[in-house]
Amino acid sequence: MCKCENYEELKKSWGYCKTKKYRFEIEVVEGDKSTCHKIGDKFEYPQDRGLICPWLLDSMTGFIRVLEFGGTLPWKYEGTPYEKEIDPDGVTTEFVRCPDPSDVGIVVKITRTILK
Ligand SMILES: [Zn+2]
Repeated sequence: MCKCENYEELKKSWGYCKTKKYRFEIEVVEGDKSTCHKIGDKFEYPQDRGLICPWLLDSMTGFIRVLEFGGTLPWKYEGTPYEKEIDPDGVTTEFVRCPDPSDVGIVVKITRTILK
């Protein structure tokens, strides 16, 4: 999230500011045995990074990195509970599972919404 006070000035020197702006919401959609998070927990990214379990955050990083620079990942998980929306100019979703090897089974839904 760009926190430029003088956005126009910084935009000239920092390529990141030339990218589109997005809002990210992270929602826990599976993981009823988890002690870290509960189903329905919602987080804003990056504002709430410190509230997200480090393992889960680590597993999401690569996906968020693609999404925050305007990319989308092409697989759709069609016909599964994880079927995605992909709209580069609207809402794009991505599902990510925590690597915890026990049976807690945390899955989060990342929702990227373009800010117009
Ligand atoms: Zn955890």
